[in-house]
Order: sequence, then structure tokens, then C-alpha cells
Amino acid sequence: MNSHRRPAIERGAEGAPLSAWEPVIGLEMHVELDTRTKMFCACEVTKGDEPNTHTCPKCLAHPGALPVVNQRAVEYAARIALALNCGVRPRSIFHRKNYFYPDLPKAYQISQYDEPLAVDGWFEYWVGGEKLRCRINRVHMEEDAAKLVHAGGDAGRIAGSDYSMVDFNRGGTPLIEIVSEPDIPSPEAAREFLQQLRNLVIELGVSECNMEEGQIRWDANVSVRPEGSSELGTRTELKNMNSFRYLQQALDAEIPRQIEVLEAGGTIDLETLHFDPDTGTTTPLRSKEEAHDYRYFPEPDLVPLVIDPDWTSGLRQAQPELPAARVERFTSQYGLSRPDALVLGSAHALAAFYEEVVALGAGAKPAANWTMGEYLAHLNAAGLEAGHGHVTAERLARLVKLVADGTVSTSSAKDVFTRMIAERAEPEAIVAKHGLGQISDTAELEAAVARVVADNAAQVEQYRGGKQQVLGFLVGQVMKATGGRANPQLVNELLRKALGG
Ligand code: ADP
Ligand code: ZN
Ligand code: MG
Repeated sequence: MNSHRRPAIERGAEGAPLSAWEPVIGLEMHVELDTRTKMFCACEVTKGDEPNTHTCPKCLAHPGALPVVNQRAVEYAARIALALNCGVRPRSIFHRKNYFYPDLPKAYQISQYDEPLAVDGWFEYWVGGEKLRCRINRVHMEEDAAKLVHAGGDAGRIAGSDYSMVDFNRGGTPLIEIVSEPDIPSPEAAREFLQQLRNLVIELGVSECNMEEGQIRWDANVSVRPEGSSELGTRTELKNMNSFRYLQQALDAEIPRQIEVLEAGGTIDLETLHFDPDTGTTTPLRSKEEAHDYRYFPEPDLVPLVIDPDWTSGLRQAQPELPAARVERFTSQYGLSRPDALVLGSAHALAAFYEEVVALGAGAKPAANWTMGEYLAHLNAAGLEAGHGHVTAERLARLVKLVADGTVSTSSAKDVFTRMIAERAEPEAIVAKHGLGQISDTAELEAAVARVVADNAAQVEQYRGGKQQVLGFLVGQVMKATGGRANPQLVNELLRKALGG
């Protein structure tokens, strides 16, 4: 049994049979593509520009303005679909999805419906030490709505704000939707799935997937069923989430709620829920709409999208190395363990940093330890992205080499690393300035060893009486006396000699 198919709740006391439930999760992820222009017009796609400066009759839905498909957007969408092992269909159709919303002046969104760009793929992702596979239902193209800005009053809540403003710059940005099958077995797996899917999209260079700017958003669908059952229960939908942490929290709250309802003999309503991170609870927003509510019909202003299979195979051949393949390569090329390869190889920027450190002459193993340890800790503490820390790959490589050639001890090297951040200086300069070089001078160390032997008569006695492990203590004392700068191997040798061992 898959260990992530743990029931969310197990109840039953004193040996009574447990009623065990398993959650089933399906995800829909929206990604704004970083194309230069919009999905159906030539307006520039921008971030942070003056509101309503990138609009035209097409994206403002003036009568008679005709949409034209952006080829770059199709290419980006197809590349995502291929990376998800989907079949890109030689012919797909755009539909109108009709609804009223103030951020869509056409009162419909051009989207894809029953003949989408790509279908039937799969995505493999890691949860803990385990590789899971999720089937991908489809990848389709659409256009993003404009952006609503709620202001005045309690602007944090739509219902509490006094008024709303609309910025049409975002309206018409190419958007794709990736829909998974309900194959995801736990809230933790859902979070991993999305994070690794995001890494994949970033790797392809088709979107930066910037979370703060809302470049990616997702809906989570979740139901529960008796463990081992193959039927799906009725689901609820958690809409428009954009934080991995809230996603997991929302699912952690919603799953036990459903179990409780079902155990009390109730039924789950197919509804859209809102998760409130402050209270940690889910509350109904509306009953779930169904496809027929949208009155889908083929977009009469666009011909079917016909894709030459040769073009698709060209795209497939030009794909970059994807994270899963890179993780495999890191284990074989650098001899890394799988957990280490996953940390270093899953995301583009960190992987590139690590490989640069190695390419600059650092050993693969110590470079891995430094990158996963000191460097990642620095990025987290400073809130920086890989490659943008205050220690460059070049400086880290030089530090690793200083340790390898015995110029600095490992413990002094950690000190040098910290000072590289504070002083933004070369490791060699820091070693020289602060006298952090490793002491490999025999005469100097002999003096320190002699002092430690003289000051620790009791331990010396024990060692001579056969208690070998006391040597470690004495080595530690010499290291302490030299501020961690002594060459530990040399100290070992000199101590044994001094103790007559
Ligand atoms: P809609 O377009 O109404 O959101 P879809 O059929 O496209 O509906 O499904 C949306 C998502 O819900 C998909 O990711 C799918 O995997 C997931 N899903 C469908 N049924 C269930 C279920 N019973 N439990 C959990 N997830 C489900
Ligand atoms: Zn436009
Ligand atoms: Mg949905």
C-alpha cells in the first residue's frame, strides 16, 4: 500500500474496528504565460505598469474587434503539455465560456472546452522518499481576466470594501489550465505536486510562476472514501488558492469535516468552499456551477487551431533537461544520494548554482554539503532566491577548495562563510584578514599539544591506562585552544606521539 494513503482520521476505541477513510484530491492549476503579447491581441503583457495603459479594442471587447491567436502562447502551452507527457492534439477548438463578471468586459472568456489543446498525460513527483504518479487530464488555453482592486472600507475583504477598481492591463494575458486526475492521496502530496509542477514550468522558461503577482493559482478538489474503495465520493472545491501553506491547511481542515459529515450519516454537497486561514475552517461560497451553466459554444470568431505534428515533434526535441531527469543525472554524475539530488536538482536556480560551484573546481560532495547547508540557510535567512545570495558560486567554490587543500579547517571555513556574507569579500582575503588559516605548522601545534597534556593530567592518565576514547576529548581541547584552526589530523598524530601511544 502506498504509505501516503494514510487515512486522515482513525477512530474507534478499545479494539473496536477502525473506520478508515482516504482522501482523494484533484488539482487544477492556472499559469499565466510570459509571452510578450496577449492571447488574442497585440497588447504588451506587462507587470506593474500604470493601470489601463495596455488595452485595445480587442481586449476591451469593443464590437467588431476580432481575436487572433498568439502563436507563442500556443508554443508555450504545447511545451508544458509535452513536459507532462500529454498528447498535443492536431486540432483543437476555442469556446466561449459565458458569465457575468466585472473583470471580463466581453461577459465571456475565450477558453477551451471539450476539444482542448492536449490530453492524457502524467506527472511524476516525489513525496518524502517516494515517487508518485498523477495522471494529467488535460492542458488547455484561455485568456486571463482583468485585475480587480478592492479599495476603501475593509478592503481586505471583497464584501467589506467600499468600491472596486479594474485594471485591464492583465485582461487577455495568455493563461493555461492544467487539470489533474483525482490521483493525489494526501494534503502533503498536493503541496508537493504543485511545488514540483511549478518547478517544471519555471524550468521550461515559459513563466516565472511568480506567486505574489498571482501568476499561478490553483483550485483543489477533494473528496473522501472508505479506504480501499475504488469509487469516488462527492467532492468539494477550494477555489483560487495561491499559497502552498494555505492549500495544505485548507485540505487538512476540509478532509476531517467531510469524514465527520459522512460518519454522522450525512452527505457531502458538491460546492465551492472558501478557506479562512485565520479560523482554519472552510465555509460554503456557492453551490458548484456545472458546465452547462456556462452555455459553452464554439467561438465563432476563431477557426479551429490546427497544429502540424512535425512542429510538435520539433518542440519535443528542443525541450531542456527537466527536473526529474536532472535529479537522476545528479545521482550518477556527482554520486549524490537521492535525497541530496532531490534537494539540489529539483529547482532550476539552485541546480544551476550547484553545478557552477562544481564546474569551478569544488569537489561534488563537499560542494553539495555546502550548497544544501550553509548556502540554503543563508538564502532562507535573507529571503533570497538561489543565485541571488551574497555568496557567489565562484567564492563558494574557492572556499571549498581552501578546505580541500588544507588552507582552512572545516570549522574555520564556516566562519569564513559567515564573514563572506557580512563583508562581501573574497574567502582568501577574509582568511588573511582574520587569521583564520589552518595551523599545519608542527612546531606551533606541538606547543598547544604539550599545554593540553599538562593541563589534563587525569584524562592523560586514563588514556595511558587503555581508555582510547579519551583521545577524542584531548583532540577537542587542542582544537579549542587554537580557535578551531588546527589541522585535526596533525593534532591526532602529535597527541599520540606526546602520549607515547
Ligand atoms: P470542473 O470543470 O467543474 O472543475 P472537472 O471535471 O474538470 O470539473 O474536474 C475538476 C477537478 O476535480 C479535476 O482535477 C479532477 O481530478 C477533480 N475531481 C473530480 N472528481 C473528484 C472527486 N470525486 N474527488 C476529488 N477530486 C475530483
Ligand atoms: Zn489588447
Ligand atoms: Mg474547477
